[in-house]
Amino acid sequence: MSAGRALRREVAATARFLHERGWVANHDGNVTARDGRGFVATPTATSKRLIDDAAVLELDAAGKPAAASAGKRTFGEIGLHLAVYARRPDVGAVVHAHPPHATAIACAAGNPIARPFIAEALVSLGPAIPKVALAAPGEASIQALAPWCELVDAALLESHGVMAWGADCEQALLRLELVEHLARIAILAAPLGGVTPLPETMIAPLLQARARANIGRVADRAVELAARLGGGGGGGVRPVVACAPAPHSDVPTIAPGGGASSRRGGASAADLAAIVREEIVRALGGR
Ligand SMILES: [Zn+2]
Repeated sequence: MSAGRALRREVAATARFLHERGWVANHDGNVTARDGRGFVATPTATSKRLIDDAAVLELDAAGKPAAASAGKRTFGEIGLHLAVYARRPDVGAVVHAHPPHATAIACAAGNPIARPFIAEALVSLGPAIPKVALAAPGEASIQALAPWCELVDAALLESHGVMAWGADCEQALLRLELVEHLARIAILAAPLGGVTPLPETMIAPLLQARARANIGRVADRAVELAARLGGGGGGGVRPVVACAPAPHSDVPTIAPGGGASSRRGGASAADLAAIVREEIVRALGGR
């Protein structure tokens, strides 16, 4: 079997699974995977129940049907998938569905799963499951999602559903499944007084465990870097990205561009990007 066919099978199996689990209705949901320089994608206007590998489209790098799928139409939300791929070279698959519990939270006020409240889930999904603000389909919805692509691996889409991404279909699907699972638990806990957040003292060690295990977005390495620079296990003094000498001698700094001027040794561009992303996640914090 060709590599392309194996990938189309994987995408088709993922799509059927979304239907089996009741996470899509009618023609809802879509799945894509990176295939060399292009992509493969579920067809539009088709129940996920009916998708086999022959139905999966081949797309070029711009997300348009490639020669093998000439004359076919891509689904309308392809722009959201492409927004993720453009910002995350590590991502190989994107899954979108409307699983009922997570979609209930996406459609209601508030977000009780903004910070995973179970230790394993925090390790698997990271510190935030944001609710991306509602925007009109097309460019506006892409602009709403874009800032989150580098920061998280799964997000609620307000008044819509869930998107998750990962190295492959399996990882993206597991993340979507975990978001739905957390949402279900949060809803079950609501009449009991709601879920209790994990204590703050547990967060940094769990994120360190996540970084050590190399789970999730590369930005999580910021936790380790913060611990190294601040000596505080991520919970102590946080490093500050400095373009000029730091005004406070007790604040550890890292310098952009290799860190020749850093007092604590240089930081690579990736380290710098990781810290910046981590700070943004912290500031945005989900809604
Ligand atoms: Zn949708």
